[in-house]
Amino acid sequence: ELPFMTQQLVSSRTIAAIATGSGGGVGIVRVSGPQALQIGQKVCAPWPSDLLSHHLYLGHAHSQRLGSQASASGTSDPQGTAPSSLPARIDQVLFAVMRAPHSYTGEDVLEIHGHGGAITLHLILEACLDAGADSAAPGEFTRRAFLAGKLDLTAAEAVAQLVSAQSVSAARQAQRQLHGELGRVVAELRRRLTVLLGDFEGMLDFPDLDADTEVLARAQPELAALSARISSLASTFHRGGKALSRGLELALLGKTNAGKSSLINALCGSERVLVDARPGTTRDFVEVRTQWGSETGSSQGAQDLTVTLIDTAGEREGATDLELAGMRLGRQRWQGVDLALLVVDGTVGMGPEESALLALRPPALPYLVVWNKSDHQGCLPPPAEAIACSALCGWGLPELRRQVLQRLAPQLEHDDELLIVSERQALTLQQCTEALKQAQSALALKAEVEVIAAELRTAALRLGELTGDEITPGVLDSIFARFCIGK
Ligand code: GDP
Repeated sequence: ELPFMTQQLVSSRTIAAIATGSGGGVGIVRVSGPQALQIGQKVCAPWPSDLLSHHLYLGHAHSQRLGSQASASGTSDPQGTAPSSLPARIDQVLFAVMRAPHSYTGEDVLEIHGHGGAITLHLILEACLDAGADSAAPGEFTRRAFLAGKLDLTAAEAVAQLVSAQSVSAARQAQRQLHGELGRVVAELRRRLTVLLGDFEGMLDFPDLDADTEVLARAQPELAALSARISSLASTFHRGGKALSRGLELALLGKTNAGKSSLINALCGSERVLVDARPGTTRDFVEVRTQWGSETGSSQGAQDLTVTLIDTAGEREGATDLELAGMRLGRQRWQGVDLALLVVDGTVGMGPEESALLALRPPALPYLVVWNKSDHQGCLPPPAEAIACSALCGWGLPELRRQVLQRLAPQLEHDDELLIVSERQALTLQQCTEALKQAQSALALKAEVEVIAAELRTAALRLGELTGDEITPGVLDSIFARFCIGK
């Protein structure tokens, strides 16, 4: 059953988009909506009179536009024997119709499988648009699937996570949510919460001192259990979900010329960041995504881990405006990273600049001191807590990787547990937990029943927002805007 709010959003537009990424040998144009079959009849031929749903047909895709242009110029048909409206063949294709409601979106869907490559698929898409379809917005197919009740919001978000997954474990986690595991867990928690809320609302409607005392006594442990479960679910985002979905992020801090760019190059094994012997080369911040595999000696959960290295602009006296702007941007980027690496030029040692940099970082951000240039004969002995290494010859880098993973181990330990991998979901669960905590303390303080009920209502609302049972169009827009077109 559709939530009332979202029922209003079901569209009568028929949408079309290229559903596959670039570069493949085969690509798919997807059309969804009430006009899908009529559009198919105009674009694909021969169109079987007894067309069956969920069957593939071999034929051609045609363009009305190309055909009339070609005959108007007279080049393709010098004898003038072909009718001027003859459509031009775009490509040999396989096409299929998935009739409503048995399709991804729950609407009539047409898929046209053509040869891959930008031109052919764009011509097929253009032919569909000419035949009456509208261009799909990012995520619009999945949005329609959600509105049709084909998947809940946690599963819809999992589609985006699956498409952007960078590792096998991230894809596996997305599959679990796509198959509704999180949706089911949250729905069950919401059911229990609604029962509890019902008890309190009953007290408001029909106050009865004896019964109320009993209800309140029963409510207390149930409320505590719900609160603990939801709070633990929320915490999986920071205990592994975040690292799983976007990998780890390391910010490199340090004076200009300490060797930050060289270190990034050494850690990703290629000349990705421009290294220059003159100070002030790094004007902005540079992000390099690397894949840390099992050779780093990481634990099982950290295999095929994405690690993003962020080189912030070097700190330098007499920096130009441009450099200062870069430094500011770099500092903003520090917010939300998992760990900082303070890169120290071992031939110079730690000074006031390093202390100033550490003071600038977000207070909760942990850091490791990297004593670079250990290969240099002028390198000073490193302090006990520092990791000595050489970006130039690669010495000490495995130890650096090992210590990074050890420091971030709590974020990487997630055996086979259900994880929250979306920031929106984590935030919603946190808000739910807060409301439950409020309800718990109100209950403990013997507050008015109405106060407790109000908190429980908020908590239940938050869970509904997670699955999409309670949602506003604005929230939907922000979720689906992050999808790519064709999904
Ligand atoms: P950044 O400004 O912190 O990014 O520093 P760079 O990576 O551009 O390095 C500054 C200079 O130090 C360059 O000339 C590098 O070749 C040199 N350098 C960097 N790492 C090492 C190292 O481990 N050993 C030695 N001997 N020189 C290094």
